Amino acid sequence: MIGGSVGGLFAASLLRQAGWDATVFERTVGDLTGRGAGLGISAQLLEIMDRIGARFEPSAGVAHNSYVWMEPDGSIAFVNDRATVGSSWARVYRPLRDVVPAGIYRQGMTLRQVEQNAASVTAIFDGGTRAAADLLVAADGVFSTVRRQLMPETEPRYANYVAWRGIVEEQDVPRETAAVIGDRIVFCFPPGELLLTMAVPGPGEDMRPGHRRVYFIWYRPADADVLRDLFTDEGGTNHGISIPPPLIRPALADTMRADAGDRFPRAVAEVVERVSQPLLQAITDMESSRLSHGRVVVMGDAAFVARPHSIGGVSKAALDAQCLADSLADLGDVDAALARYETEQLDFGRRLVAHSRYLGAFLEHGSGAPPPDPERIIRDYGAPNLLHDVDPAGFQAKAE
Ligand SMILES: Cc1cc2nc3c(=O)[nH]c(=O)nc-3n(C[C@H](O)[C@H](O)[C@H](O)COP(=O)(O)OP(=O)(O)OC[C@H]3O[C@@H](n4cnc5c(N)ncnc54)[C@H](O)[C@@H]3O)c2cc1C
Repeated sequence: MIGGSVGGLFAASLLRQAGWDATVFERTVGDLTGRGAGLGISAQLLEIMDRIGARFEPSAGVAHNSYVWMEPDGSIAFVNDRATVGSSWARVYRPLRDVVPAGIYRQGMTLRQVEQNAASVTAIFDGGTRAAADLLVAADGVFSTVRRQLMPETEPRYANYVAWRGIVEEQDVPRETAAVIGDRIVFCFPPGELLLTMAVPGPGEDMRPGHRRVYFIWYRPADADVLRDLFTDEGGTNHGISIPPPLIRPALADTMRADAGDRFPRAVAEVVERVSQPLLQAITDMESSRLSHGRVVVMGDAAFVARPHSIGGVSKAALDAQCLADSLADLGDVDAALARYETEQLDFGRRLVAHSRYLGAFLEHGSGAPPPDPERIIRDYGAPNLLHDVDPAGFQAKAE
C-alpha cells in the first residue's frame, strides 16, 4: 500500500484478513490524526470498520436529526426529517490505525517511482530503498505519484467555485445561535451560493452540547481570475489551488466575514463573523478511466475525487478496499480480481462523482445561475442513492 491514510489502512487490514502479507508506506512522519474536523459517517463505513475490528465508539457520533433550509430572515422554509451521524477524522482514523500492526506501517517513506513486469512490481522510494511485491495498491490521494506515472491523463478538474470553511467554539457563539443550529444541518441559499452549518465534535473530540464546535462551509463561485486572486498571498505569490490558511490575505477573510451579514440569517452570520482563521479550498473533482495497470491498482482519492457535497470520500475508500480484497479472495487469480475490481469501482466512482456534480452544478455559474431547487438539493445531499445514512437512534442504543 502506498499511502497510510484511510484508504491504505482499510486495504491493509482487509487484505491481511484475506491472507495477504501487507505493508503500508506513508510519506508523513508524524501523526495523521490532526487532519480535518467534521466527517460524515455512512452505514457502509461502519460495517467495514466492524469487519476489520476497528471499533467506532458510538459516543464518537454527533446526531443530526434534520436538514433544514433557513431563509435570510431566520424562518425555516423546508425541513427534511433525515437523521444522520457526523463525527471527526480522528475518531475514524485512529481505530483504523490501531488495528494495523506497527511493524507493517512504515512512515517517512515517499514513493518516487514504480517499476513492474508481468509477475511483480517494485516500489522505489526517495533515498533509493526498494520494495518488491505481487501487487501495489496506490492509496496516495488526489495528487497520487503512482497515478501520475502510470495514468497521467487523469487530473483533478476545477469546478469554478471555492469553499470557505471555518470552525468556532460552541461556547463562543451566542446561546441563541447554538440553539438555532442545535441538532440540525442548516442550509442557506444566497443567490448562486450555498452555506451549510452544523455542530461538530469539540476539543478532545468532546461531543457534549456546549462543548462542541460549530462548523460552516460556504461555497462561492470563483472564475479563473477570482481564483488567482484568492490564492495569492500578501507577498504576491500565487499558490495554485491550495493555500496554507495563514497565507490567506486578511483582507479577503474580512470581506468574507462582512459578506455574511447581508446574506444569512443573524444566527448563521454570527458563526461566520467569529471565525478567526478560515480555510479556503478550490473545489475540484476527478474521474479515472481505468483503475489498474499491470500489478498496480489505484483506489480512494487517487482514483476518483467527488466534490465535498457527496460527503463520501472516506466511505468510498473503504468500499474500494473491500471490493479489492473480496475480489482477490473470491477469484484467487490476481488478473481476474483486478478486472472485477475495476469494473465495479469504476462504476461506483463515476456515480459518486456524477452525483456530487449534480449537487454543485448551480454553484458553477455564480448568481447568474438558474435558481436551484433547494428542497431537492437538501433531499439528495450526501449520496443517499449510494451511501446509507446511519440512524442516530440505533447508535445511541449501541452506546447504552
Ligand atoms: C477538509 C476536508 C473535509 C472532508 N470531509 C469529508 C467527509 O465529511 N466525509 C468523507 O467521506 N470524506 C471527506 N473528505 C474526503 C476524505 O478526506 C478523502 O476522501 C479521504 O481521505 C481519501 O482517503 P485516501 O486514503 O484515498 O487518500 P488521502 O486521505 O488523501 O491519503 C493519501 C495518503 O497518501 C500519502 N502519500 C501521498 N503521496 C505519497 C507518496 N508519494 N509516498 C507515500 N505516501 C504518499 C499522503 O501523505 C496521505 O497520507 C474531506 C476532505 C477534506 C480535505
